[in-house]
Amino acid sequence: MNSFAANFGPFVFDRFGYNMARNGDMEHATSVTHYAGAVVANRGWDWLLFHEMSHHWWGDWVTCGDWRDLWLNEGFASYCEALGMEWVRGEADFRAYVKNDLQAAARNPSGTGTIYDPDYFWGTIVYEKGACVMHMLRYVMGDSLFFTALQDYGQQFAFSTATTADFQTVCETHYDSTLQWFFDQWVFEGVGYPRYEVTYDIIGPPQLTIHQQQTLGYFTMPIEVEGYVEDAIIRRTYWVEPDQNGDWLTTDIQQFDSVRIDPEGWILKLVTYHLLSNTASAPVLPESFELVSAYPNPFNPTLSIEFVSPAAQPVTLRAFDVQGRLAFIESFVSSPGSNTRAWNASDKSSGIYWIQLTTPTETRTVKAVLLK
Ligand SMILES: [Zn+2]
Repeated sequence: MNSFAANFGPFVFDRFGYNMARNGDMEHATSVTHYAGAVVANRGWDWLLFHEMSHHWWGDWVTCGDWRDLWLNEGFASYCEALGMEWVRGEADFRAYVKNDLQAAARNPSGTGTIYDPDYFWGTIVYEKGACVMHMLRYVMGDSLFFTALQDYGQQFAFSTATTADFQTVCETHYDSTLQWFFDQWVFEGVGYPRYEVTYDIIGPPQLTIHQQQTLGYFTMPIEVEGYVEDAIIRRTYWVEPDQNGDWLTTDIQQFDSVRIDPEGWILKLVTYHLLSNTASAPVLPESFELVSAYPNPFNPTLSIEFVSPAAQPVTLRAFDVQGRLAFIESFVSSPGSNTRAWNASDKSSGIYWIQLTTPTETRTVKAVLLK
């Protein structure tokens, strides 16, 4: 609570408590209703404590203008799950939470609509994608301006309502430049997220191409490029504005042994790398194991789980219900590249399920709703 107050503004209510209940969670001001099954000793539900507490700033103190602006409550509170990790547990847990719990879930298309005026209020677009947009806004504005803008937004709209346009105006005042391009592509108009193919010639003249697959539109972002040459790491940020073919090219780069983009994981995206030499070109393989999507969501009765793997490796697919009971398990060997598995839940009852993929070194989890 001290961290939230230090970064957002003072806690303005008389008291605060969590109340165990058979169902949860709900951010009633001063008295959060908290799911009794989440009262455990292993700290596995800390994210939910952070989420509901943060609603005392984003939701209870400043309330979203109307349903179209719901992400100002829920996207913010979902990002506060990660901020709680950052402030209580540290940088590594924060980065891991953003990657595994927010970005992986946000790539799960529970609908294809926009964050603003969403097709469905209680899905990953408003919650997890909204959180990823806050993470990217922090990256674009920088820590100092981002948190100052949040404090100002709180003071300006305290005990009142705010629209997305209000929030944008406050951010632009502090950023001292327009953010229309950002809000249009991520909040008001754009859907989905960029899928980048990075091509770098490791032997020929240095040039870097970042191609965006035309899925649902192109995104313009500042992208940090990290190059390795011998023992040195060189980082540089470029504004990547794709042309009509989705390509962006620079020769304004030096010779590296290898390259990766966005090394700190700010951007909601999927990346594959294609390193060229003068003799052969390597196949395009994903940089890391990623759960791309679980669809449709809600589903009935079959859920398709799409993931990418940098290599053939053993993978276990599990589904858990909200009580943590195993509902499904299957082990198999993945193919390098893109993979899809299906879970037929025709013998299961309606509810939330956690879909988990594990490799020998990594775990990815996403939430899906069975609606019969
Ligand atoms: Zn919430």
